[in-house]
Amino acid sequence: MKRRDFVKAGAIAGGGLLLNQVSPSKLFPESSSSTVPIVVSTWAPNLKSNARAMEILLQGKNSLDAIEEGIKITEADPNDTSVGYGGLPDADGKVTLDAAIMDWGGNAGSVGCIENIMHPISVARLVMEKTKHVMLVGNGAKEFALQNGFKEENLLTEQSRQAWLEWKEKQTKKENHDTIGMLAIDKMKNLSGGVSTSGLAFKLHGRVGDSPIIGAGMFVDNSVGGAVSTGNGEYVMRTLGSFLVVEKMREGFTPQKACEFAIKRLYKSVKDFSDMNVSYLAINKMGEIGAYSLKKGFTYCLTTQKENKSVNSFSLMK
Ligand code: ASP
Repeated sequence: MKRRDFVKAGAIAGGGLLLNQVSPSKLFPESSSSTVPIVVSTWAPNLKSNARAMEILLQGKNSLDAIEEGIKITEADPNDTSVGYGGLPDADGKVTLDAAIMDWGGNAGSVGCIENIMHPISVARLVMEKTKHVMLVGNGAKEFALQNGFKEENLLTEQSRQAWLEWKEKQTKKENHDTIGMLAIDKMKNLSGGVSTSGLAFKLHGRVGDSPIIGAGMFVDNSVGGAVSTGNGEYVMRTLGSFLVVEKMREGFTPQKACEFAIKRLYKSVKDFSDMNVSYLAINKMGEIGAYSLKKGFTYCLTTQKENKSVNSFSLMK
């Protein structure tokens, strides 16, 4: 099931606000006490990925391991049509994936438009750890993965192939996309982040979204906090959203206020609001969380040692 359908199915209570209504920061529970280890990720169906990340953290491993292992769960799920295996293809019928990872030392790695590799998050980590570079794309990224022991696999499931055939026939524009964006703080109080997505369904071949662009789809600064985004990446890239959220937290904004600031900045850049949305999720060094969306429907997962739950985000627009 698509995340959006999951939300529509009413699994979670709604929480949207009208523009200019009372600021969600006033309503949002902003925890004062720090709870580490902690994991947050975009979209309610990723509870299983958060659970895996927490398992890793409770084994005493670091937040980078938790991010990689957690995101791999979503990447391997054939029923998730916007990440990894089973992701909806581009206009040419090719599944092309974007991912990025960043650790507490300010190190970063990413891959864009990689094909036939099940776990782009692991390739992104390898780019970070084994090369002098930050980003590899297309065939170069795939060759790098194959040289490092990754297997070539067909990621187009029958379900996604059928959806593509139907789209080709009707050529109707249907928004279908999402990203798993995850942030984790380990027992050593070190923060890491990661994102993985197949991007916009039926996009032009070669299109790369915000996710692998460090500072757009994800940014982490261990002395401040981290942020991830989901939604139409073009808007996020134009406003360097995740970096903006982290920089506002550096100035003293709470994660909630920082997400609201970035959404309001982005709001000004949107010319056509139909069929689009953007959401941010952030955490600061103290483990306080913020989430905010342009339109309603955004959910995130919050996992501590005590609970693993989905939460409904507030939004700027109805
Ligand atoms: N941000 C992703 C992209 O533009 C898609 C999404 O998260 O909905 O590729």
